[in-house]
Amino acid sequence: MDIYIPKNIERVIRVIEDGGYEAYIVGGCVRDSLLGKEPKDYDIATSASPEKIKELLGEYHTIDTGIQYGTITVVSEDDYVEVTTFRVDGEYNDNRRPDNVMFSDDLIQDLARRDFTVNAMAYNHRTGIIDKYGGQKDLFMRKIRCVGNPIIRFNEDALRIMRALRFASQLNFEPEVSTAQAIHKCKNLLKNVASERIAKELDGILVGDAPANVLTDYSDVISVIIPEVRRCIGFNQHSRHQIYDIWTHTAIAVENSDNIREVRLALLLHDIAKPDCCCFDDEGNGHFPGHERAGVEIAERVLQRLHYSSEVISCVSTLIKYHYVTPVDDRIVVKQLLSKLGKDCFFKLTAVIKGDSRAMQSFCFERVQILESMEKKANEIINNKECINVSQLLINGYDIIMLGAEGPKVGDVLNALLSAVIDEKIPNERERLLDYAKEIIML
Ligand code: ATP
Ligand code: MG
Repeated sequence: MDIYIPKNIERVIRVIEDGGYEAYIVGGCVRDSLLGKEPKDYDIATSASPEKIKELLGEYHTIDTGIQYGTITVVSEDDYVEVTTFRVDGEYNDNRRPDNVMFSDDLIQDLARRDFTVNAMAYNHRTGIIDKYGGQKDLFMRKIRCVGNPIIRFNEDALRIMRALRFASQLNFEPEVSTAQAIHKCKNLLKNVASERIAKELDGILVGDAPANVLTDYSDVISVIIPEVRRCIGFNQHSRHQIYDIWTHTAIAVENSDNIREVRLALLLHDIAKPDCCCFDDEGNGHFPGHERAGVEIAERVLQRLHYSSEVISCVSTLIKYHYVTPVDDRIVVKQLLSKLGKDCFFKLTAVIKGDSRAMQSFCFERVQILESMEKKANEIINNKECINVSQLLINGYDIIMLGAEGPKVGDVLNALLSAVIDEKIPNERERLLDYAKEIIML
């Protein structure tokens, strides 16, 4: 079977082969090509040593990305191509990375150190596909299977547990039985992995095509990285709006939302405080007053621990804080929300509430239509450049000072004018704004 290799990558392979060494495309690009997907990037593995790679590819600009691990980045027509010498990993002692690596001239040894069979295939036009570990069969069966003994492989590098789940979600595959068992058994090793690396894979799980099954089937693994999740698993909500326990609802909401990292992170954590806020009415119905505000506190703690940036934390917190607002399909309400949240956050919030609604009883789905109509109105308001910000008022701070206000009063007057314009009590016309400002100042 032939795999397409872009011309600039093919050229790098040819130069190395002409120098008397082997070179192949490997890993994700072979996997994605066989799945009929366009590879994100192409990685090359070679029998040439890093020094030899640099010598052979002398006409290219090269960067010593990870030279001690055998990786040179070759800049080819604006593409960054990683070229890595075949490698055998030395002993692993910290569940993270090998103590040392040895270079090798044997492709099969190099493929043996790779994590999953679907990632352990190589190809070039001369040899065709080299698939020592059954990657093609597992691609066909849609399975994530460790190369070799999964317990040993997860003990070597526990991040592979998260990678297995990330590929399962991304590709809509399932870990095969012994890999799945080893994931459950080895989950606590994740405590030895840096939280930034865990967060990156968590993001990959969330924005994948099929996160719901991963989140429910591996809730024990998620609980290792986010222990706050544990109490949500199997928590019966006793609510007429809900079909699922809190965690299953969470997983289905994530999968049924727009594929945006902050939206999916917010949905992952939106109901995290429900177990703390649960109370029952006389008929035995569950209610969760204040769960959105309490959820913000827990979410901030979780995201800080996982070293998310302050921008992501602030956006996700806002989305959780407002995820429980009742959608109202009204121009003024839409303008108020746009003004308070900003455009970006407004559309992320509607995406969050849509995802949340789609994971409830079917009568809640009508909220999705309301939210879509609100989005349409928001787009019209933005395109018409309707006033939703102080900076869009046809009057400014200087005008207010000229009317006799000073200090913080100036800002208060401008905000009052903005509210009046958004609420359509007065038009955004200079004379009317000046009159209204005078009235406020005199109060
Ligand atoms: P993506 O398309 O998401 O980038 P990928 O398969 O290219 O997927 P990378 O993280 O870019 O994933 O890694 C490239 C290749 O290196 C993998 O296909 C795999 O063969 C190998 N690899 C990466 N990380 C590990 C690891 N922790 N343990 C073993 N092999 C790994
Ligand atoms: Mg890759």
